[in-house]
Amino acid sequence: MAATDTRTFNNFIDGESVAAASGGTSDVINPATGEVMAQAPDSGAEDIQRAVTAARAAFDEWANATPADRATALLKIADAIEARGDEIAELEARNAGKPLQAVKDDEIPVIADNLRFFAGAARNLEGKAAGEYLEGYTSWVRREAVGVVGQIAPWNYPLMMAGWKIGPALATGNTIVLKPAPTTPLTTLLLGEIAAEFLPKGVLNIVAGGNETGQALVTHDEVDMVSLTGSVETGKWIARAAADSLKRVHLELGGKAPVVVFDDADMEAVAETIAGTGWYNAGQDCTAATRVLASSKVYDDVLSGLAGQAGEYVTGDTLSPDTTLGPLNSARQRERVEGFLQRKPDHAEIVTGGKEPDLPGFFLEPTVVGGLRQDDEMIQKEIFGPVITVQPFTNEEEALAWANGTPYGLASSVWTRDIGRALRVSKALRFGCVWINDHIPLASEMPHGGFKQSGYGKDLSAYSLEDYTVVKHVMANITR
Ligand code: NAD
Repeated sequence: MAATDTRTFNNFIDGESVAAASGGTSDVINPATGEVMAQAPDSGAEDIQRAVTAARAAFDEWANATPADRATALLKIADAIEARGDEIAELEARNAGKPLQAVKDDEIPVIADNLRFFAGAARNLEGKAAGEYLEGYTSWVRREAVGVVGQIAPWNYPLMMAGWKIGPALATGNTIVLKPAPTTPLTTLLLGEIAAEFLPKGVLNIVAGGNETGQALVTHDEVDMVSLTGSVETGKWIARAAADSLKRVHLELGGKAPVVVFDDADMEAVAETIAGTGWYNAGQDCTAATRVLASSKVYDDVLSGLAGQAGEYVTGDTLSPDTTLGPLNSARQRERVEGFLQRKPDHAEIVTGGKEPDLPGFFLEPTVVGGLRQDDEMIQKEIFGPVITVQPFTNEEEALAWANGTPYGLASSVWTRDIGRALRVSKALRFGCVWINDHIPLASEMPHGGFKQSGYGKDLSAYSLEDYTVVKHVMANITR
């Protein structure tokens, strides 16, 4: 691996750019080349302590700022992200292994829109009407910030997940210590620097490090709430750790989205959308359309449609405008995905892909696997790579049983032109989101979050503002 002569990034604590207290750094790899592209702080408990102390000290002022003042800061952060969009997009593309054009077109505008939504929505929180529920008393409800929030982000959409976390937390008056994922800290560290121009010091602290750094944050006594976007295993660990101090927990965990295709669906749209959203971000998306359940009447059409689509993908240099499929995020993640393919049961078949292209970095071909059974691990576990599975079903009941038959419950879609069936199936699917005749579009105004082991709490929408606030009842005796 090439020695680095590249930039060293710092934490952002209490309004200042600072190295880890230990002076330690870790290599940040560009997954499209396998080469070291930067150094990030390898922070420990001391850095978390400094950041939590700063967030605690900043809390009163920020929580007491008017919603308008907090909104103004968020709007300015959104503007600054857009203004520096090209620089941020290139850094994200290189660090997370994403096609540059996709970051520019799909992520930067969405992050700015999310922040603008929260800026406006938090000025318009709703509560019950104040009233006299006991004679002689007036009651009303206040919605107040939770306090210091520890936020932990994953590597698949590093800056967008940071945006989803800081938007509702800041808009409602919380202060933050945010830890990005160890492989993809760079745009989040840059965000700390960008946001510092518009926020009082200590309101948003960014501390880079690994899982132990996250543990120090989760178990810190002065942290009032923890929000994780990550794997189910980490979510369970955090929920258990948070139980000791009864911290509020907000968990956006893994997914295994079923795509239920009936025989009357528009098959061209089906193949295009499944490919476009199953292989998007190399399948490293918690809502990716990677678990297709197709009516046996159209099973072969779905397989051949996807195999045809796979041939259209261009892998390679993520900064080239022609590239449509990036690498896996790390060597470890590619090994994990390949492990599923190597353990493939004999009754299943790799219809297309499954191999590493002849490229540096951690690429894997767009892959389709057919013939799997409901209890196979590729159906039951999140693969989180460019692997789409397809299973044939014989009727609606079987389709629903299989669609609901995993521990996850984040997102799903149903494809049919029969309106009654679309509504019936959308009701029966046990997922936090159901798309009808589409897959993956999100709106800032609508909630995103899971059922079952995909976690609890919502991102986006006014519902996330509820998660980042506590309700207080104030009751006045109006006779004295
Ligand atoms: P991960 O759980 O391994 O890591 C996520 C973050 O948690 C990282 O920052 C990591 O350092 C930290 N962490 C790990 N162990 C910890 C611990 N014990 N205490 C505190 N922090 C700890 O997940 P990942 O591999 O980075 O991300 C992929 C996962 O995230 C997938 O399962 C994916 O589905 C999920 N995800 C979910 C959503 C959603 O909205 N539901 C969005 C994106 C990703």
